[in-house]
Amino acid sequence: MNIDEILKKSRNGDVLSRRELILLLDLPPDSPEAYLLMAEANRVSKDVSGGKAEVHAQFAVNLAPCGCDCLFCSFAGINNIFSEATELTAVQAVARALRFEADGANAVFMMSTARYPFERFLEIAGEVKKNLQPATTLIANVGDQTLKNSIKLKDAGFAGVYHALRLREGVDTGLSAAGRKRSIFNFKEAGLEVGTCVEPVGPEHTSEELAEMIEFTASVNPAYSGAARRISIPGTEIAGRGMISELRMAQIVAVTRLGMPRTVPGNCTHEPCTLGAIAGANLFWAEAGANPRDIHAKTEEGRGVTVAGCQALFQESNWDVLCGPSHFYNRGAHGTGQRQPDRSAADPAAKHGPVIPVG
Ligand code: SF4
Repeated sequence: MNIDEILKKSRNGDVLSRRELILLLDLPPDSPEAYLLMAEANRVSKDVSGGKAEVHAQFAVNLAPCGCDCLFCSFAGINNIFSEATELTAVQAVARALRFEADGANAVFMMSTARYPFERFLEIAGEVKKNLQPATTLIANVGDQTLKNSIKLKDAGFAGVYHALRLREGVDTGLSAAGRKRSIFNFKEAGLEVGTCVEPVGPEHTSEELAEMIEFTASVNPAYSGAARRISIPGTEIAGRGMISELRMAQIVAVTRLGMPRTVPGNCTHEPCTLGAIAGANLFWAEAGANPRDIHAKTEEGRGVTVAGCQALFQESNWDVLCGPSHFYNRGAHGTGQRQPDRSAADPAAKHGPVIPVG
């Protein structure tokens, strides 16, 4: 099967097979075929999201050396980047959330390290929720959870979570793949929308591993999938493996889009970049406070990008940015991503505009 046949399948609204995903992942990132692939992924992303990209914004509730020791994480105790534990007060957390809301983030994320006390996280979430506009989308990025705790997150007002089965989970991380998957199923059973990603991609990951992970993310019908490269933390052992280029990441972002059913409206990448956006990424994150890819305790002084910065990157890439609460995390309310199959091949008139009513 050649690239034209594969892209024709995508234009017909079909999800690609693992063999086809591998073939696309094996393309040289700077080949003409890879650019065709990125253009097709961009078309599909615009179609399923009504041409509206989203910017979500995350702040960390705490910063602490973490015993889970994921090799790529600056919080990992084994990496010796941070030695002291600090946490926000509820007042500080509310201020962070209100700042993001005022900046126009489509969703506000609260993150904690895996071992942060869950009840404390809920307490702070209660204060944050009380102070945000009722329509503002609040998302949790926390460690593995039972079904009981997942229901508590839902009851606390979270619309969804971010949770990923990381590449080489259990090998490069101190957590188990089975536990990560179980948490994703618990979140879904509790009624939380799950956003996920193929991450953190390094040069050592094979096309077969990436394709398998793309298929796993598709299997949970997430609010969004996508791809993010590993950022080297200076001085760590894993930094010796190197980093993939933004262009290679963009290619993987594009392949991930074509491996998702059309019911999945979002396609994320991190860190934000125009190459990712032109390859079909329609979700970026702004960040403040602690960040597992940064050696600065305040990532806004380091790698973190602001909401306005993310919006500008989308605009430079010919994307409109959604105004208001996330459609990706509120699929039921907006019908986002629900349209299928894609009619663009059968109906040329459908090629040029969004079919889903969004806005
Ligand atoms: S990625 Fe999460 S679980 Fe792993 S070391 Fe960092 S904070 Fe801990």
